[in-house]
Amino acid sequence: MSNQEIIDKLLSGEMKLYQVDKEVSAKEATDIRREFLEQKYDLELSNIANYTLDMERASARNIENSIGVLQLPMGIAGPMKINGEYCQREVFVPLATSEGALVASINRGASTITASGGVNARVVSDIMTRAPAIKCDGVGDALKVKQWFIDNFDELKQIAESTTSHGKLIKIDPILIVGSYVYPRFVFSTGDSMGMNMVTIASEKILDKLAEETSALHIALSGNVCVDKKPAAINIVEGRGKSVIADILIPKDIVAKKLKTTSEAIVEVNTAKNLIGSAASGSITTAENRNGDLYFSVNLPDLPVATVGGGTSLEVAHEGLEILGVAGSGHAREFAEIVASTVLAGELSLVGALAAGHLARAHQELGRG
Ligand code: NAP
Repeated sequence: MSNQEIIDKLLSGEMKLYQVDKEVSAKEATDIRREFLEQKYDLELSNIANYTLDMERASARNIENSIGVLQLPMGIAGPMKINGEYCQREVFVPLATSEGALVASINRGASTITASGGVNARVVSDIMTRAPAIKCDGVGDALKVKQWFIDNFDELKQIAESTTSHGKLIKIDPILIVGSYVYPRFVFSTGDSMGMNMVTIASEKILDKLAEETSALHIALSGNVCVDKKPAAINIVEGRGKSVIADILIPKDIVAKKLKTTSEAIVEVNTAKNLIGSAASGSITTAENRNGDLYFSVNLPDLPVATVGGGTSLEVAHEGLEILGVAGSGHAREFAEIVASTVLAGELSLVGALAAGHLARAHQELGRG
């Protein structure tokens, strides 16, 4: 079939979008689906068509029904000095955004950090979780299933770890019971990968064993006690992904020179915005006035970042990790420290701008064409 014949079949509904991949290579299928849209809606999609990414590889693991690539402007902020456990150096942080003023703001935070001797960053916990929903006859059975998980932990650990060479089942905790439902939270370490696929595959194996040995019903592999992609109190309390904290003490002369404000004004904004205003969302930034110097910290309890697996091998992501010096195995915690430090740089600059009354002006100058 020629490309136009395939497009005609797509236009008539005779062929589905995903079926194009069976006829031609992933790169050609990408072009055909895009041309189908161009013809259907009388459009020219020349920018989506313009990319260097290896679409054969991306289509195998990162995207379905591909039509091209989204471009975002990328800038860098830095140098930023980090005094972490894993990252102890100055970094330039690549940032992709369409929000004018964002990179400039983080750059100002990075400059304040470096002038103050660097930001401290620590990974305080490093786990990935999956918690299926299991249905029992009633609370009595649910308690027995909970006990089954506790009694068989060693064997379940072996079963889970037979599916992966880097994933390790650390514990099953908590095992929540709600009426007749049981939610065991499988807690893994996942090396340098974010680990969500890894722990999902391993968790399924555990549930196969549960089905063999009990009459409990596996309702859903994810029962939302995990909790993935949603804000959740359990992730704030228990942690998930990397839990990272970054803090810094900024001398008062640097607060005045770089942030154009005072520690006192920053502490007041931080209390109103980040403590009272953010109470409902659970985000935590602290600021203290220490004799005119400014103590500032950010706490990221649920940061699922990776330096291998998932999208980390996509060309642009890989180049970004290379700029940071954290591409590949052995760098995930170092990357987490850099992310937390960058968040602190952005937050510091933002709160500084609010305290100095500069926020609207910065967006007016940098964010509007
Ligand atoms: P993955 O790419 O599926 O798995 C990581 C791979 O890297 C594994 O095959 C692992 O081998 C290997 N690996 C090599 N060196 C490693 C090292 N140093 N540390 C850790 N692993 C290493 O990615 P993933 O991290 O498990 O999952 C991330 C993806 O999950 C993202 O793309 C995300 O979109 C997706 N996701 C999935 C779900 C889900 O429910 N399945 C939910 C949310 C997101 P071994 O396994 O043999 O160790």
